[in-house]
Amino acid sequence: MPFNLFVDFQRLSGVLLAVVAVVAAAGTAIWISLIIWTYRDMRARSRDVFAQVLAALVVGFLSIPGFLVYLILRPNETLAEQYERALEEEALLQEIEEKKVCPGCGHPTKENWRLCPHCHTKLKKPCENCMELLDLPWSICPYCEHHQSERPSATRRAPRSEASQYDSLPYSDTSVSFLDDSEQA
Ligand SMILES: [Zn+2]
Ligand SMILES: [Zn+2]
Repeated sequence: MPFNLFVDFQRLSGVLLAVVAVVAAAGTAIWISLIIWTYRDMRARSRDVFAQVLAALVVGFLSIPGFLVYLILRPNETLAEQYERALEEEALLQEIEEKKVCPGCGHPTKENWRLCPHCHTKLKKPCENCMELLDLPWSICPYCEHHQSERPSATRRAPRSEASQYDSLPYSDTSVSFLDDSEQA
């Protein structure tokens, strides 16, 4: 009688062991694939190697609860989605920047307008040689290299005339001699 019981117990424990082994194997497989999935998913969402390893470790140590935590805390966007969004934003910004407005009244203007129809502010001037439209401060045409004759509209000559003033004045000489003195001392 005790012998029979022992055999039965042995058989039972054998079946139990087999079941446990299968469950454990399946569980381990799922556990490992969760870790790999998490690592890959995090790699698609972050360039930070530390974050990638940390996410995999959290799932590795905490298993399914860790996986749930990862799903809750992971970055919303993948890097590809981030990149796409950045591109879209940049395109949108460029579109906004490219929309010209009149400096006088703020009304939208077009690239080829010479003056604002609302407030009559001068926007562009035609090249004296090829008639392409130039920005008002430009003194040379980027299309035909023709130097524009100076007109009152071209106000950006100040730095150049200042420089030539310095050249002609003895001031520049004194500053040089001052430098020489300090070097000698
Ligand atoms: Zn205007
Ligand atoms: Zn020109």
